Order: sequence, then C-alpha cells, then structure tokens
Amino acid sequence: MLSKGALYGLKAVLALGRAEGRAPVRIADLAQAEAIPRKFLERILLRLRRRGVLRSKVGVGGGYALARPADLIMIGEIVRSLDGPLAPVPCVSQTAYRRCDECADERTCGIRLVMKDARDAIAAVLDRTTVREALDRSEAARRAATGRAPGRRRQRRSR
Ligand code: SF4
Repeated sequence: MLSKGALYGLKAVLALGRAEGRAPVRIADLAQAEAIPRKFLERILLRLRRRGVLRSKVGVGGGYALARPADLIMIGEIVRSLDGPLAPVPCVSQTAYRRCDECADERTCGIRLVMKDARDAIAAVLDRTTVREALDRSEAARRAATGRAPGRRRQRRSR
C-alpha cells in the first residue's frame, strides 16, 4: 500500500503536471488546492526535488514545477522516490536486494515466487505510465463522468 507521503507526492506532481508551461506553483497554493498539510508537503517536495523529479525557484514568482516534461516522468519514479523499492519483500527488489536472515533456499521459497510476480506486475504498470498518461486518463474519466450527467449536457447545448 502507498504511504500517505507517496499519495500526497503523486497528487502534488499531477497538479504540477496540470500547471505545466505556466509559472511555478507556490507551496501554499498547492497545499490548499490539494488539501495536503503544508509542512508535510514541503518535505515531500524537497525530496522530489532532490531526486530530480521537481525543480524549484525562490523569491517572487517562485515555487515548484516539474523538472522534466510530464511525459518523461514515470509514476514508478515518484513512488520509489518517496516509498523506496516497489518490491513487497527485499529479495525480489531490483534496487534494494536483501535476503531474510533465516532464508534457507531462495530458489524454492514460495513467498519469493509469489512476491516476485507481484513486484513485476506493479513495476509493469508504474514504470510504463507517465505523469502525462495519468493526467490524460483522469481528464478522459472526468469528461466521461460529466458527459453522462444530463443536466450538464443540456447546459452545453444551449450555449
Ligand atoms: S526467498 Fe523467502 S526466505 Fe529467502 S529472503 Fe526471500 S522471502 Fe525471505
């Protein structure tokens, strides 16, 4: 399960992706718009900046923005930056491999076999999905949801 920090980090990055091409977003505005406690958000943004996901500008007109285009930032990169390896057990991690102290035989351990499948399935989605794709899917879902609302559709036709 994603930590609260990773969830907030993803929300913040998607919000900054929506603001792509515009001026950096102030932390206070981001915190308010996404309902994230400001102090917690500051720590998350700092970590994402150190990991090269975000850039910041100080002074008047300062704030945070994506360090790269939204179609070049993978969701997996954000999750790893804030929560560490995707693997449920360290012996199937590609970035932080470690064995349990009591490990008898990795090749036949049933836990490892199942958890490796789980790790690979999660990585297959998160490492192939960009921030841009997540935003596009969200926008498409929003349009589909509002398009189904008859009141809204009538409103648009009458313009
Ligand atoms: S193979 Fe099994 S016992 Fe060994 S490190 Fe992995 S989960 Fe632990």
